[in-house]
Amino acid sequence: LHDTFDAEYNLEAATLDGEEIKLYANTGLEVSNDLINAKYLDGIGLYRTEAWFMQQDSFPSQAEQEVWYRDILTAYHPAPVTMRTLDIGGDKSLSYFNFTEENPFLGWRGIRISLDHPELFLEQVKAMLKANMGLGNLKIMLPMVADVNEVESAKRLIQQAFFELQEEWVPAHGTLDMPEIGIMLEVPSSVYLLPEWANSVDFCSVGSNDLTQYMLAVDRTNSRVANLFDSYHPAILRVLNDIAIQCLDYELPFSLCGELAADPEGALLLVAMGYRNLSMSPSAINKVKYVLRRLHVSDMEALLKTCLAARNAKQVHRLLREFIIHHK
Ligand code: PEP
Ligand code: MG
Repeated sequence: LHDTFDAEYNLEAATLDGEEIKLYANTGLEVSNDLINAKYLDGIGLYRTEAWFMQQDSFPSQAEQEVWYRDILTAYHPAPVTMRTLDIGGDKSLSYFNFTEENPFLGWRGIRISLDHPELFLEQVKAMLKANMGLGNLKIMLPMVADVNEVESAKRLIQQAFFELQEEWVPAHGTLDMPEIGIMLEVPSSVYLLPEWANSVDFCSVGSNDLTQYMLAVDRTNSRVANLFDSYHPAILRVLNDIAIQCLDYELPFSLCGELAADPEGALLLVAMGYRNLSMSPSAINKVKYVLRRLHVSDMEALLKTCLAARNAKQVHRLLREFIIHHK
């Protein structure tokens, strides 16, 4: 079946009624040849920088990081590469930065660690800014944002990194660009701060994995409750829909980079909600494209309406199955 999907890899992801959907890849670590050859990709929607950190024995230097980031920015240039700042804690730990917590997913994670260790954050941001010199396709994304102050502090640090480089480094090396700065929407509180984000960030991207975990209070790594972790729960679909409505209203660019986008059924519901930028595991891109190319937005919208009104995830799955059979 993969051959069927792959046959259309170089065609654009447009629905039958011509609505263009941009498909990006989630990745980390080195640039894979598959991805470089994927000229059809619209860019990297989520570059998980922690993947690199997890392979080291100590915190990488600014120079080491600059090489990694430069490689990926160059490989995809001029397509955008959205680099997420270090997102450790929760299920992701570093051997050289060990701490244990009773509730790691509610603990020291993502931006919280970066703000408590500005020296690490500044090194990372400087490496990104330097790597971006002469390219300009970098976007910076902040993980696990729950509060406006976190973004203000992070933006101040990014400014500081920029100005320090401007003084120390630019005179000998050239000019720097200030990249767009965005946030992950993955903590429920952040959804209710969209009016604030509209004035303070350049874009946002929904992390449906963590948003599902925190909305449903289900640990995404606990197999005992794995059956309860379902992004098709009507409450999750409603929050995703509300995000799209608000972002469109505020004209805040938005995308989604959780696993839901890698599932064709999830992707078609997201398109119906108004998402036009979806980022997913590279292996899912051709399949999602294949399905979207065979549907009309109006049909997806009608399906979405029934799913949003469903009582539970089971009903949503049944509606999706019927839709797919009907459109085969
Ligand atoms: C998410 O939470 O949906 C996400 C994309 O980030 P990660 O899976 O890396 O936490
Ligand atoms: Mg996340």
